[in-house]
Amino acid sequence: MKIYEYQAREILLSYGVPVPPAICVNSPDMAAEAFCELTRTYQCTQAVIKAQVHTGGRGKAGGVKITDSPEQASQAAEKILANPLVTHQTGPQGIKVRKLLVCAAVSIKKEFYIAITVDRTKACPVLIASDQGGMDIEQVANENPDAIIRSVIDPSAGLQHQQAFDIAMKLGFTDQHTHAAADIMLKLSKLVTDTDASLVEINPLVLTEPDVNQPDGQILAIDVKMNFDDNALFRQPQISKLHDTEEDNPAELHAKQFGLSYIKLDGNIGCLVNGAGLAMATMDIIKHHGGEPANFLDVGGSASEKAVTEAFRIILAENNVKGVLVNIFGGIAHCDTIAQAIISAARQVGFNVPLVVRLEGTNVEIARNLLDDAKADLPTMITATDLTDAAQKITVAIQ
Ligand code: GDP
Ligand code: MN
Repeated sequence: MKIYEYQAREILLSYGVPVPPAICVNSPDMAAEAFCELTRTYQCTQAVIKAQVHTGGRGKAGGVKITDSPEQASQAAEKILANPLVTHQTGPQGIKVRKLLVCAAVSIKKEFYIAITVDRTKACPVLIASDQGGMDIEQVANENPDAIIRSVIDPSAGLQHQQAFDIAMKLGFTDQHTHAAADIMLKLSKLVTDTDASLVEINPLVLTEPDVNQPDGQILAIDVKMNFDDNALFRQPQISKLHDTEEDNPAELHAKQFGLSYIKLDGNIGCLVNGAGLAMATMDIIKHHGGEPANFLDVGGSASEKAVTEAFRIILAENNVKGVLVNIFGGIAHCDTIAQAIISAARQVGFNVPLVVRLEGTNVEIARNLLDDAKADLPTMITATDLTDAAQKITVAIQ
């Protein structure tokens, strides 16, 4: 699950990680007001208007604007709210901007990068840091990998004081800033453990230019991104509450209500499968035969006929679906339940595209007989003997 920057900042604050003051708004007028309030209260002269969206790379896409007056703040807000934001992470359709964060601008002396995520190979959290933070971090990682520090965190003990201190030294912090930076890393490590975050990324973490109030400058988190492990949300009620249902794909929500795992993809072959492993294998073999899956739909082990009928309804409602592949290995799931669902989907929704069915396992004979008897309702059905046969047949059928 992803949350917005303005929500992630609140979590950082609750762990004592310093962030600049900011106000969340949803209109140009409110942005101008927020500009006035921030400059009045915090002695800053500029404010940064930032699109609140579940994607990175906003700065380069025009989703982050530094403004000098309430009028500029209002204009910047109007511009950002007017069109979907297209970043290198969104695809060409972009993402609708509904909220903006107006932040007190700071003078930046140096930008750093600090993140904690999961190292799947080592099966533990890893802290990633660089003294070359900012908008070009991906380029730094590609072209100058030595500028990126990776430090594995013991999952049961968390980040160690000495470990954090060493990383801060390597990043080039000096004097009291070394302690402040190490302290932030330790707080992030605790945050990750407490909240089941799969990613906490501060980019940039900045050292500010010295001023009268901060003669040595200070360390602030200017931007933060957090993702959480969906499978842990059941024990994270405070985090679950931050979920924004407006960002959900309606078809994925519909599927969830029936206990189905559905993920929309870009291809044209709808896949109805039981079990995530079989779903992966099915997608791989479709691709191997030159096809492109339109979705990942896992009906699970114990789906009812009604749920599976809904699954077909969801797949057939997608405009880009030119054919459907059913691949069921009945263990706990019974093939006859799936066959019944195919028949009721045919009667209720109708298959107007080719349907390739491969069934194997529990009650397969009953299922085959059911489908045979219902042939009149299933004029586009083609049966397959195994997975390869099924993938070949569907890729040919949609030509
Ligand atoms: P992102 O592009 O989505 O990662 O958005 P960020 O919030 O990181 O903002 C992009 C860039 O804008 C940052 O890397 C900074 O260089 C710049 N920026 C953001 N806030 C401030 C600020 O308060 N002062 C200054 N000088 N630059 C800022
Ligand atoms: Mn950033």
